[in-house]
Amino acid sequence: MNRRDEKLTPAELSWQDDTPVSVQFDDIYFNKSGGLAETEYVFLAANDLPSRWRSLASGERFTLAETGFGTGLNFLCARKLWLDLAPADARLHYISFEKHPLLPEDLAQALSHWPQFADGAQQLKAAWPPPLRGLYTLEFDSARITLTLAFGDAEDMLADLNGQVDAWFLDGFAPSRNPGMWSEQLFAEIAAHSRKGTTFSTFTAAGLVRRGLASVGFHVTKQPGFGRKREMLNGYFDTEALPEQRTAPWMARPQPIVDAPRHAIVIGAGIAGCSTAAALANRGWRVDLLERNAAPALEGSGNPQGALFIKLPTRPTRQSELHIAGLQYTAALVRRLTSAQPDMGELCGVLSLALTDKEAAHQQQVIEAGLYPSQLVSAVTQQQASTLAGVEVSAGGLYFPQAGWVSPPLLCRHLLEHPNIRCHFDTSVTSLTRCDSSGQWRINDGQFNAPVIIVCSAAEASTLPPLQGLPLKPIRGQTTQAQAPAMHSTLQRVVCGEGYISPPLDGRYCFGASFKLHDTDLDVRDEEHQANLQLLRRAIPELADTLDMQSADGRAAFRATTPDYMPIVGPVPDTDWVVERFARLRKDSNWRFEPGMRHLPGLFINAGHGSKGLVSCPISAQLIASLVDESPLPLSQPVVEAVSPVRFVIKKLIRRTI
Ligand code: SAM
Repeated sequence: MNRRDEKLTPAELSWQDDTPVSVQFDDIYFNKSGGLAETEYVFLAANDLPSRWRSLASGERFTLAETGFGTGLNFLCARKLWLDLAPADARLHYISFEKHPLLPEDLAQALSHWPQFADGAQQLKAAWPPPLRGLYTLEFDSARITLTLAFGDAEDMLADLNGQVDAWFLDGFAPSRNPGMWSEQLFAEIAAHSRKGTTFSTFTAAGLVRRGLASVGFHVTKQPGFGRKREMLNGYFDTEALPEQRTAPWMARPQPIVDAPRHAIVIGAGIAGCSTAAALANRGWRVDLLERNAAPALEGSGNPQGALFIKLPTRPTRQSELHIAGLQYTAALVRRLTSAQPDMGELCGVLSLALTDKEAAHQQQVIEAGLYPSQLVSAVTQQQASTLAGVEVSAGGLYFPQAGWVSPPLLCRHLLEHPNIRCHFDTSVTSLTRCDSSGQWRINDGQFNAPVIIVCSAAEASTLPPLQGLPLKPIRGQTTQAQAPAMHSTLQRVVCGEGYISPPLDGRYCFGASFKLHDTDLDVRDEEHQANLQLLRRAIPELADTLDMQSADGRAAFRATTPDYMPIVGPVPDTDWVVERFARLRKDSNWRFEPGMRHLPGLFINAGHGSKGLVSCPISAQLIASLVDESPLPLSQPVVEAVSPVRFVIKKLIRRTI
C-alpha cells in the first residue's frame, strides 16, 4: 500500500489515576506527578532553551521539532517559555509528528490537568485536526507561534518535510516498546533536517539511541535522568550538513535575499493577495499592497458569500492533501475571526448532495475507502440531510460538519488591518522589471520598488512579462442573490450539488455559480440567473420555487484556473535558464542533473485557485511567506512541487513542446 493511503488509528487511551496511558504502546504519555518538571528538565533545559531564547534578537525565528505530539504537554510548556522569554516579534515554529492523534475528548481530558495552560489548550483544542495523514498548520498567540502537526508515521512525514530544525525533542515512548520511533532511517532523517549546532534531548539513554544519533553526526552526552531515571541523553549536531539532493534540482528553494530590507510588494487585493500580505506582515515584513480597484475583493473574491468546501477523492492525491490542509487552516482562521465578527462567515456545516448516479457511486466509494474520519466527513441519507438543512433536500450525500461559508470581502478587509500593511488602491501595475544593480524590482518605472514581489492578480498575472507563459485562464462565473422568502423555513447549512447555496445573509440567499470558459464579458445575465435557479431547484426544489426572482440580482467575475487544476504558488523560475540547463529532459526525462537552479530573485506568484480560493489561498499564503522568510514549509514536499510554477516548463521540456 502506498503510504499516502495509510489510514491513521487514533490513540487508544486508558487512565491510571488521571495519567493517560497508551493501550497501543503500553506506556504513559506523561507522569502526572512531576510531568511538568520532567518536561522542563528533559526537554527545555537540556536543549538550553531558556538561555537561547532569552538571547534571541528582534525578529529572529526558531524551529523546534518533536517526535511524538501526544497530549501536547511539551508543546504547551515550550509555548509558555517562549511567550515569557523570546522577544515579542520573534517567531517560534514548532513541528510535531504524531501517528496516533488523540481523539478530541481524550485531548481535552488530558489537558484538563494543567489549568496553568488553559488558554494554550483552548487554542489547541479549537483547531485540532482530524486524524488523517497530512500536515496541518495551527497558529497561536497572534501568529507568534506556528504549530505544524504532521499526522502520520514520523519517518515518512519527516522525509517529506522541507525545512531545517534548531532543536529536537525526541519523545516517542520507550525504545523497547516502540522501536519504530528510534529507527536508523528516522535518525538519518533527523540529521538531514539539522544544521551544525542543532541540539537534541531525550528521556532515554538506550544504547541504540546513543549509537544511532552518533552515527548520523550528533555529539551525544549522557546526563543524569529526571527523578528516578538514572540517565538521559542530549547533544548537538556536530557536522556540516551535506546539501543532499532529495528533489529534482528545479524544485530547489529559491536563494535567500540577503542584505535587503524585509519589504515586499503584493500585487492584487483578492483573497490570495490579502492573505499573502497578512502572512508576511505577521512575520514582521513591511508590505505595500497594490490594487487596481478602489477597494479589496472587487473581482473574483467579491461574492458576498463563498462556500468553504472541498471534494474528496477515494484515494489521497496532492490536490486533496492541499485542500484538506487548506480547509483546516481557513476554518481555524474563520473560527477565530467570527467570534469577534459573526457576519464574516459561519462554520455551519456543508452538505454535498449526490444528485446524480455517478456522484452517488463516487460518494459511496469515498466512504467505503474508510480513509476519512467522521470529524471531517460522514454519509447522510436524504432524510438526515433534510433535517440538517432545515428544508427538504432532494438527495442524501456527504456532510462536512466543520466546513461552512465565508464572506470573502469581509475576510479580505480584516486581513488587511495590520500595521505592517499599506494599501494602494486605484493603482494598476503596468510594468515590472528588476534592476540588477540595486537588487530591487521596479513597478511602473520606479513608482514602487521592493526586493520581493508576490503577484496575486489571478489570470492577469501572466500579462506581466516576467510571468508570461504561465497557463492561467479566466473563467466567467455569475452568482445570484435573491430575497429569502418570509414564509419559508431558513436553510441551516451550505448545500452543494452541481451548484451551491449558503444560509441567508442579511435576509438574502446567494447561490450559483455559472461556469463559462472563453467568455470575456462581465455583464450580469438573466439566462445565467435562470440556470443558477435550475441548479438550486435540483437540490432544494421548494426553496427554489419560493424565491422571489423579481428581486434577484447578482455579479459576474472571473476565476483563474490552470490546466492541472492546481494553483500556481511559489518562486518564479528564470525560464530561459531552466530551458537551457535542463534541455536534456527532451531526450531523457529521467536524467539525473547536478544540483543548481535559478529563479528570478525575489519574484513569487500566488494565483490560479479557481473556485477553491477560500480553501487554498490562505494556506498558499503561508507557503509563500515561509519561502520568502526562509522557514519550514507548511505543506509536504510533493504538494509544494505540485503547485510550483516551474512544473509547466519542465512538463514542456519532457513533452518537447518548448
Ligand atoms: N510529547 C508528548 C506530550 O507532550 O504529551 C508525549 C509523547 S508520547 C510519550 C509518544 C507519542 O509518539 C505518542 O503520542 C505516540 O502515538 C507517538 N508515536 C509512536 N510511534 C510513532 C511513529 N512511528 N510516528 C509518529 N508518532 C508516533
